[in-house]
Amino acid sequence: MTLKLDLHIHSVSNGKIHVDCDQLKESLLKKGLHGVAVTNFFDISHALLLKEQLKEFIIIVGQEVWTKDGHVIGLGLKERVTDFLSAEETIGRIHEQGGIAVAPHPYLFVSFCLGEKVTSLPIDAIEVYNGLAGGLLIPNFLAKRAAQKRNIPQVASTDTTDAASIGQTYTEVLVENPDRILEAVRTGQVKLHKRALPLPFAFVFKGLFYSSNVAPCPVHSFPCLVCGKTMAVRMFKDKRYCLDCGKEEWTRIVCCTNEHFLCIECVAKRNLAISQEMWGTTKEAIKI
Ligand SMILES: [Zn+2]
Ligand SMILES: [Zn+2]
Ligand SMILES: [Zn+2]
Ligand SMILES: [Zn+2]
Repeated sequence: MTLKLDLHIHSVSNGKIHVDCDQLKESLLKKGLHGVAVTNFFDISHALLLKEQLKEFIIIVGQEVWTKDGHVIGLGLKERVTDFLSAEETIGRIHEQGGIAVAPHPYLFVSFCLGEKVTSLPIDAIEVYNGLAGGLLIPNFLAKRAAQKRNIPQVASTDTTDAASIGQTYTEVLVENPDRILEAVRTGQVKLHKRALPLPFAFVFKGLFYSSNVAPCPVHSFPCLVCGKTMAVRMFKDKRYCLDCGKEEWTRIVCCTNEHFLCIECVAKRNLAISQEMWGTTKEAIKI
């Protein structure tokens, strides 16, 4: 027997629960998966809760950490990893608590990625197939090339917030014992199953061309923390002021409907405050 796992999903995005216990269970049963890694930004509280609630499945507690150099995923975490450190320091902290570090979508230009740094950082695996980027071809091609050049283990995952899309692409780990999953990923005992998620054309184009009438991305939702409408990527960078701290920043990512903008540090603070309210996450756990 082997274990089929989607190693990168977001159950919560900017304070909104997208995948709850029942939805995750239904999706795993439908897709015939053994489990997922819940890799939300900023906080691991919901991942811990799902692990507690879904004992019949494998729920790996993870976090997509927002480093200074781009996103880094920690898998098998016991504690939240501090955001906004260097990628190298972040990877060190993931390893310190017995986790493994994966570079997600290293060449996805619209996202916050490690880029060429992926070729030298002490990561354990590279996400060579990101379901969201599947239809774009080039980002995943470059990721695979980087992994092959370094002879580093590879994983495939969806990176979705959409319960129905979980497991569209996944990693089959060639071990039977769930306790050996991380070790198996680190040593490349995996088989990848790659199927792209549908490209959200309407969402991307409306956002790029400054439409204010944009429905949330169907496969990876990122709601505005101020008004709940969707955030989207604009064609050009504009100078914005963070609504919470006043910091000036050039950005392409804003709330489409009401032009709200928060800097990423304030986005993290608001997310952690919401976690504290929703799950009673302790003050120490949410200290930035
Ligand atoms: Zn990411
Ligand atoms: Zn992600
Ligand atoms: Zn807004
Ligand atoms: Zn701010």
